[in-house]
Amino acid sequence: MALQLVAVLAIIVVDNEIRVAHGLAVIIVGEDPASQVYVRNKKKDCDEVGFNSEVIALPENTEEKELLALIDTLNKREDIHGILVQLPLPKHINEDAVINTISPEKDVDAFHPENVGHIMIGDYTFLPCTPAGIMEMLKFYNISVAGKKCVVIGRSNIVGKPMALMLLEKNATVTIAHSRTKNLKELTKEADVVVVAIGKAKFVTEDMVKEGAVIVDVGINRIDGVLYGDVDFENVEKKASYITPVPGGVGPLTIAMLLLNTVTAFIEQNK
Ligand code: NAD
Repeated sequence: MALQLVAVLAIIVVDNEIRVAHGLAVIIVGEDPASQVYVRNKKKDCDEVGFNSEVIALPENTEEKELLALIDTLNKREDIHGILVQLPLPKHINEDAVINTISPEKDVDAFHPENVGHIMIGDYTFLPCTPAGIMEMLKFYNISVAGKKCVVIGRSNIVGKPMALMLLEKNATVTIAHSRTKNLKELTKEADVVVVAIGKAKFVTEDMVKEGAVIVDVGINRIDGVLYGDVDFENVEKKASYITPVPGGVGPLTIAMLLLNTVTAFIEQNK
């Protein structure tokens, strides 16, 4: 659904000229197998909607200053509208330094502190892709969160925290749970909507959710080559009114939102 939306938006008119919103640079450092899969999927989806994407693969031993210099070059290139650095990075590279070097107007992941600040006050150009995809999905299925109890499990900067802010923006009553939360089950059993992003296979079980709850599973856990979410899907499905599968639920929407952010970046940079 969202991918088709992006495909339509990818061709726009600027100064009476029809142009294709191209120019996404994806940088990957090292050999992390999961990251390689994510980057391959991003490239595939970019090709599908006609974006001109560039994957730049750097070796594991790339120095931080080399990576920062590359980002600097991409910041200046007019044919590149969005820059994404696949995380996690090798331990010797400071992720914050990398995120801070990406020009905020090309920061299609919305991780730069300037963009994070905009999200905090509800005035933004980009939204982080995973929570933005989840909000699109809720909208698509006419699931209103206004006045509902929503529990977000996980407080990462890329999923949990922005997810909570976006639900709050839509008038939900939001609780953020994390590894130090006590009596998690008491919170989730009361929740109308549970979003889980912790990276622990089948962590949310049937006894933790209430009948008719909406369950959004962000987790991606690879065990013996098989992908599992953070939810015990087979059993929780029986109680949930809606539930997202892994794979095939939140993941594809994340990439669709990345493409949408690239279109937005293109439009903003061509104003
Ligand atoms: P993270 O790995 O940075 O942090 C994990 C979070 O889970 C922490 O905030 C921690 O407090 C919390 N946590 C850990 N154990 C817990 C417990 N027992 N009870 C409650 N909370 C607990 O988080 P992340 O980067 O948001 O990733 C989480 C998962 O989501 C991973 O599996 C990741 O692969 C997946 N992910 C998927 C997508 C997608 O597009 N589908 C995007 C991003 C992340």
